[in-house]
Amino acid sequence: MVNDELQEWKKKKIIQGWTSRFKQAAGNNKEWQKIFHEYLKSDIWKEKRKPVLIRANGKCEKCGAIIFDPDVHHINYDRVGGNETMDDFIVLCFSCHRETHKQRDIKTDERRSDAYYQARLSGFATKKYGDIWWFEHDKQDVEIEFIIFLYRNYCQEYGIDFDPNLDPESDFDFIEFWNQVLNGHN
Ligand SMILES: [Zn+2]
Repeated sequence: MVNDELQEWKKKKIIQGWTSRFKQAAGNNKEWQKIFHEYLKSDIWKEKRKPVLIRANGKCEKCGAIIFDPDVHHINYDRVGGNETMDDFIVLCFSCHRETHKQRDIKTDERRSDAYYQARLSGFATKKYGDIWWFEHDKQDVEIEFIIFLYRNYCQEYGIDFDPNLDPESDFDFIEFWNQVLNGHN
């Protein structure tokens, strides 16, 4: 009994260690990837992926194709480091995995062509640079300023420390924010 509790405590400490390493590396994509690859070799990860593989039962959880070498993928990285739940994972075949990355790109393009998003972007730019803002300013640069503006508001709303050097590909808070933007919630 005491031994079990000790094991539990040790595990908790290890998870805390991974979690804080990931948090600290947020905004530094290279460092984050390095930690992620280390994590994929850890005992915690081996333990995490096991029930997901059992759930998938050798098949792609999206299209049902039989997979000979199944791999567990993170749907999001909100709880990466050992606190993930079963819903944070999916087993995908190679072609479905490739498809999800493509889908994310399509979604970003769709959002960009969304009238409401464009109207807000244009409102932001007009307020900042005047009616013919597009004449003197690069649209892409202004859009980046707009996204930073939205993200600053988001950080304020949720009490997140705004990190001006964040990497949009790996920063947890930013990824969550951007997913909300893509889904029209922001
Ligand atoms: Zn599939």
